[in-house]
Amino acid sequence: MRIVTTAAAMQRLALRWRRAGTRVGFVPTMGYLHGGHLSLVHRARRLVGKRGIVVASIYVNPTQFAPTEDLSAYPRDLERDKALCRKAGVDVLFLPSDAEMYPGRDTGGYSTYVVEERLSQGMEGGSRPTHFRGVTTVVAKLFNLVLPDVAVFGAKDWQQAAVIRRMTRDLNFPLRVVVAPTRREKDGLAMSSRNKYLSAEERAQATILFRALKLAKEVVAASRTPNYADVLKKELAALIATQPAARLDYVEFFDPETLQPAIAVTRGTHLALAVFIGRTRLIDNAELK
Ligand code: AMP
Repeated sequence: MRIVTTAAAMQRLALRWRRAGTRVGFVPTMGYLHGGHLSLVHRARRLVGKRGIVVASIYVNPTQFAPTEDLSAYPRDLERDKALCRKAGVDVLFLPSDAEMYPGRDTGGYSTYVVEERLSQGMEGGSRPTHFRGVTTVVAKLFNLVLPDVAVFGAKDWQQAAVIRRMTRDLNFPLRVVVAPTRREKDGLAMSSRNKYLSAEERAQATILFRALKLAKEVVAASRTPNYADVLKKELAALIATQPAARLDYVEFFDPETLQPAIAVTRGTHLALAVFIGRTRLIDNAELK
């Protein structure tokens, strides 16, 4: 596995692959890798084949964190991540620094951002107003540095995947965006780097997100007529309130493609929620098939 740390070296390599006609699959991450990330790497490998190149990046992108958020506390373990990438068959691990990605950002030397104006408005965008501007900016930059044929994202961040797919189409990036399913722990908790923040007590209560998704699926499966989103939201909020460490940030029913909020909930409607467990903010989502 080759490690690349500068933007120039990454782009030089990518241009060489492109000239050689080599297929490139790309998995961007913020590190502290878990089974969810590794499932994306395996998917990228299947997509580009044995002769293709799989690139993973680890970069904790400062522009997608608000000043009040957990940027400096974000979990990191680079040696472990390198070993996991090597084992998963990553060919090139891109580890840029802030100075490489945003040269001169603190002194006015960096001033270009990419903004998606529609799909990024509600849900995560409502709770974290500057988040998606940071995400689209860094992903656009990474696409320009890695020049992938296909980039793999996780369904765990459903809105993010939708925003990136839209950006890719709107800005004509010549690549395919693939979304891979959410990997979960045995008790249903979606794998996340942020699960590390949870105490044992909080970890037990964190399954409430999965249980809320399950309850919504059961209600929808048992109903012959559509359910009102507002009624279901109240039921889910009540379930979440049974956990003393849990505080609901949002719960939303929406169309999986347009992300437009749904008034009536039917099979095929999508559900997403964000819940604080203690001080840790967790998100999850599911289709209500
Ligand atoms: P992150 O490092 O949290 O920014 O995530 C990097 C990529 O991994 C994103 O495309 C996420 O959607 C994806 N991802 C995170 N958690 C999971 C999971 N539990 N299952 C599948 N993909 C995930």
